[in-house]
This record gives sequence, structure tokens and C-alpha cells, in this order.
Amino acid sequence: MRLVVFGAPGAGKGTQVARIRDDLQAVSIATGDLLRIAARDGSEAGRQAQALMAKGKLVPDEVVGEIVRDRLAQTDARLGWVLDGFPRTLPQLALLERLLAKAKTPPDRWLLIDVPEDVIAERVLGRRTCRQCQTSWHVKFNPSPAGDRCGRCGGELYQRLDDSPENLETRLATFRRDTVPVLQRLRARGVLTEVRADGRSPDEVELLVRATLGLPQPVQVY
Ligand code: AMP
Repeated sequence: MRLVVFGAPGAGKGTQVARIRDDLQAVSIATGDLLRIAARDGSEAGRQAQALMAKGKLVPDEVVGEIVRDRLAQTDARLGWVLDGFPRTLPQLALLERLLAKAKTPPDRWLLIDVPEDVIAERVLGRRTCRQCQTSWHVKFNPSPAGDRCGRCGGELYQRLDDSPENLETRLATFRRDTVPVLQRLRARGVLTEVRADGRSPDEVELLVRATLGLPQPVQVY
């Protein structure tokens, strides 16, 4: 399946994508993760992105567009992909649609995970991210079983610079200004599927997302 997932910062996009991508037979392409890796590795795109990301501002459309174009062209993306964090602006939407029309691989679904802003702050401020594999944990809602190391790969956990209160405000304002118009456009076209995550746990949201996308429900292990 080819799926585009939207959500404000802290809506839990990455968490849900990690839970469903195997059933979707898709690779996940998270532009925030790709940019953080580029910044860590000191590439040209990474250098351009780093300062903007630290302030919670968007990286220029051309920079992130090129990263997405390259990633979609890799062989493992042929079977399917989940785009997380792209497109975030109307020009990015236009670029993505041009790219996918050319490749004759339009998205199968566009999904919004909708979370009210008052829930977002607690989620974002408690988030801890693995420097190595980019997995997200939460000090209260999803603590790493390995304490201050990543429960998945053992890497060091840190608080992203853009997960501070001031930067969160900038990111929410950016979401309202640049990304909400993208959602409005897709809604007007009647292609946007919306899942309300208000106050629901990640498990409950997963059930909704799976039902919405027609995926099998997770098997209970007793
Ligand atoms: P995320 O991990 O999705 O919260 O993204 C972290 C940061 O990466 C954002 O605040 C932006 O600075 C940058 N970023 C990620 N995706 C995009 C995008 N599609 N366009 C511009 N900047 C992006």
C-alpha cells in the first residue's frame, strides 16, 4: 500500500506507522528522521536543515523534496511506502503529486491522525528519541524498558531540540499556517480519511487506524 500520513507534531504518526508498516508491506519514509540522520552525518542537506529544525521551522521545500524523491526511487520503496511528515506545504503537495503521477504510483490513501492541541504539549514535551534508530519513547506514556537507553537498539535517548516549549509553539503555528491548507485541499477533494485520536491510547488509535485501512487487528498474546 502507498499511504500518506498527516498529523500535528506529537500526534503519534511515527508510533502508528511503526505498528502498521509490516502489515502494509511498506517502507516508512519519515522526512523528519531522514533530515535528522542527514544532519547527524553532516551532509549538505543536513547542514542546511539543522538550524531550521532546531528552531522548529520548516526546511525549504526543494531540500526536503529532493530527499523524498531520492528515497522513493530506491528499490525497497517499489512494493509500498508510508510517507510520514511529507507533504507539509501546498508546494510540497504539488511536487509529490507530480512525482507520483510521473511514476504512475499515486497514493492509495491519505490519512490524518487528529489530536487536539491541548493533548499535544504533554506528548511532545515528554518525548525522548533514540540518536541511533530514531525510535520515539515517552517518559510517561511509553517509557523505554532500558531506562535512558533505547529499548529497541540500546542507543542513547535524548530530547530533540525542537521538542522544547518555545519550539513546539513555532511548530504548531507552522502546522496551522502551512499544513492545514494541505488538509483542507484533500478534504475538499474527498480523499482525506480522518482518525480522531483525542485522549486515546496508542493501542486504541492503532485499532482505529487498522479498521480504517482495512488491516487485520493485532493478535492478543496472553
Ligand atoms: P518531524 O520529525 O516530522 O516532527 O520533523 C522534524 C523537523 O524536520 C520539522 O520541524 C522540520 O524542521 C523538518 N521537516 C520534516 N519534514 C519536513 C517537511 N516535509 N518540510 C519541511 N521541513 C520538514
